[in-house]
Amino acid sequence: MVLVKKNEVYEGKVVDLTHEGHGVIKQERYPIFIPQTLIDEEVQYKVIKVKKNFAIGKLMNVKTASPDRVTPPCDYYQQCGGCQLQHLSYRAQLEMKRKQVINLFHHKGKMTEVPIHDTIGMDDPWRYRNKSQIPVGVNREGQLQMGFYRQRSHDIIDMDHCLIQNDDQNGIMNATKKIFAQYQIPAYNEQKHQGLVRHVVIRKGYYTNELMVIFVLNGKKLPHEHEIVHALTTQFPQIVSIKLNFQTHKTNVIMGQTSKTIYGEDVIQDTLDELTFDIGDLSFYQINVTQTQKLYRQALQYANLTGNEVVLDAYCGIGTISLFMAPHAQHVYGVEVVPEAIEDAKSNARNNHLNNTTFVAGAAEDVILQWQQEGIQPDVVTVDPPRKGCDATFIETLNALAPKRIVYVSCNPSTQLRDIEMLKPAYTLKEITPVDMFPHTTHVETIALLERKY
Ligand code: SAH
Repeated sequence: MVLVKKNEVYEGKVVDLTHEGHGVIKQERYPIFIPQTLIDEEVQYKVIKVKKNFAIGKLMNVKTASPDRVTPPCDYYQQCGGCQLQHLSYRAQLEMKRKQVINLFHHKGKMTEVPIHDTIGMDDPWRYRNKSQIPVGVNREGQLQMGFYRQRSHDIIDMDHCLIQNDDQNGIMNATKKIFAQYQIPAYNEQKHQGLVRHVVIRKGYYTNELMVIFVLNGKKLPHEHEIVHALTTQFPQIVSIKLNFQTHKTNVIMGQTSKTIYGEDVIQDTLDELTFDIGDLSFYQINVTQTQKLYRQALQYANLTGNEVVLDAYCGIGTISLFMAPHAQHVYGVEVVPEAIEDAKSNARNNHLNNTTFVAGAAEDVILQWQQEGIQPDVVTVDPPRKGCDATFIETLNALAPKRIVYVSCNPSTQLRDIEMLKPAYTLKEITPVDMFPHTTHVETIALLERKY
């Protein structure tokens, strides 16, 4: 039964936190979700949306604050949709992420005996993003805007810095805004599907400081290309690559399928532990480098390699996990659906002199079947799928291949749970380690270790 009215102000105590980081107040059993509130807080809120089964409230006033409440350091936090948890202390964020994994695996999945370790966090959880995808637009007065989207919208909040991107990215964002205004470069208008520059994407090698700037265009040509390249590279000599990417479709997908290098190299490099990686513009590369090192080291430990194992690395991207495993394995096979990423993986293997690797472009569910037919028998399989998890046919073939150990890295523990449940008859879930790859957001990454029962 609906127990609140729209636009009325109420008071209540927050009893729970959703996985989106919204506090929950209950009127009888009817829930009201209120962003930016924390468990045990007494708050005053205004109801802004009423539905049959729930309502949404806006925080008006915190009457009794949680001891975990902190002042968000970002000036744009109230409007921006980028971060959701800056009002929660970092220690409590890590606990919240662990609790989320416990709720899923212990309560929903009823795997109460599985140890779920503390979330591996960052020492300094700021400036961690090595990739920024900054939308470009104009405001009502026709001025060029760059920044991030307002929560649940595509309105751009014009910004001059973002605390989770690094100083170079902030500097290039501001310089680009000025240069585009100077040369009157038309920004893209999403509703009308008109205008030119849609996004500016900036990638940075964390340990090399190499920078790549990509202008994503609704068109084929950037006017004043030479002047823009000159102005940017003079101000930022660390830029080693500038590209145009062509995205002329009416879509939310940021990058198109084709790009052209207009300055410098085709790729930038970064290092992870002893390995060097080439990173192109279309390939997936983990966003948070220091946490990626912790994630991969944990994955390597779970793989427990002695040097004799055949390893399959599914959803391998540019081969990062594969190459972490290769020095400790007999042979590593990697599969990935983006052909450019497989090209990067092959050159990464060559550059790091890891010749005991084979990389194949294709869907993991198809290629694993092919490998099975070729008689490849893996001892260890690592998987790291996108948010939607693994294809059911992939899990079936994986089960039939019967590796001793599966190391499952996931950016979405609910699809990970679904996939692990399919493997349960033949595998024991030994333990899970959550890793915080995206501080101040609600995302949680997990690594699960599974062992064959027979
Ligand atoms: N293990 C890599 C990449 C993980 S991201 C790393 O740590 O960097 C997930 C990857 O899965 C992306 O590169 C994406 O392109 C790829 N992918 C998505 N669907 C796929 C499929 N069906 N088969 C193979 N790869 C897929």
